[in-house]
Amino acid sequence: MSDYPTEMNSVFYTGPEKFEIRRVPVPKITDDEILLKVTLCGVCGTDQHIHEGEFMSKFPLIPGHEAVGVIHAVGKNVKGLNVGDHAAADVCNSCQDLGLTMCHYCKRGEPLFCENFSAKGVAMDGGFAEFVTYNQSKVFKYSNISDEEATLLEPASCAIHGLDKLKPKVGAEVLLLGAGPTGLCMAQLLKLNGAAKVVIAANDGMKMDIAEKLNCGDEYVRLKRGGGEDTEAQWKKIKEDYPHGFDCVIECTGVESLVDRSIDFVRRGGSLMVYGVYANKARVHWSPTKIFSDEINIIGSFSQFYCFGRAIQYLDSGKLNVKGMVTNVFDLKDFQKALDCMSSRQALKIAIRPHA
Ligand SMILES: [Zn+2]
Ligand SMILES: [Zn+2]
Repeated sequence: MSDYPTEMNSVFYTGPEKFEIRRVPVPKITDDEILLKVTLCGVCGTDQHIHEGEFMSKFPLIPGHEAVGVIHAVGKNVKGLNVGDHAAADVCNSCQDLGLTMCHYCKRGEPLFCENFSAKGVAMDGGFAEFVTYNQSKVFKYSNISDEEATLLEPASCAIHGLDKLKPKVGAEVLLLGAGPTGLCMAQLLKLNGAAKVVIAANDGMKMDIAEKLNCGDEYVRLKRGGGEDTEAQWKKIKEDYPHGFDCVIECTGVESLVDRSIDFVRRGGSLMVYGVYANKARVHWSPTKIFSDEINIIGSFSQFYCFGRAIQYLDSGKLNVKGMVTNVFDLKDFQKALDCMSSRQALKIAIRPHA
């Protein structure tokens, strides 16, 4: 390993909203780890929350949980992964991954609820850097998709977990609010897994253009921006078109007021999945009577465990089509521009390119 790099550029946070582009030592791999040379690392809503110091972030931190790239070095116990392979990693760690004594939930076989849950790029250094290390058990190779497409593996994994939780009935009618990358993966997965109809309602604009181009849904409601009477009329129209509501309503926007509204579209006996990342202070005001008398299932879906392999199969086979979802790529040094671009909501998927 004579060409093992020593220093690298990184997005280095010393605390909430405080980051700089800093030269740091390249992390050393253990015998069970690989060193990934990061080609691209996706930016998502979670990174905005980390920026604000929310969502279980711990500082100092190099964020970035959607890194993809080329294996640059392998530890001596690593099997089946070679230098030069294109790979992505499942960043979620439970007690077992961290070498800790199992917590209450891990002992019950529920690693997603692990009390020591720690993800690379959230509470441990991640992929907004030129290199990142991963344990071999967390690394997945891909061969048929581009690195750009591979940045959608992590969002697709989360969508697969969402579907595991939702368990839609064969022939289900679904209303999906929001057209972000995870939502669009979710919409396609629903169509592949029994939904008879997927209606996507989201703000008019580029995200909906891509949704239609990739044939993510069966029907599209392009909401007029800024709320107001016109938007109210559109919500009313959905009600009129679907007087019995939907078997499943999936709230993927992370917008507080939309979670409130979403329950109005759930059919009797149906399910509402709360799927966005919300501000910690967000609150909902639902009628308990409706939940009680209509027997509404409220389902949470958070992150994922053991879904990465399936995400690779869906993307590598082309069944889940994410072509063109990455709309903006920024160099590492322009990380602030990437954050600004995300706030502007003029992008679908943003990625950082550490090696300019
Ligand atoms: Zn993410
Ligand atoms: Zn645990």
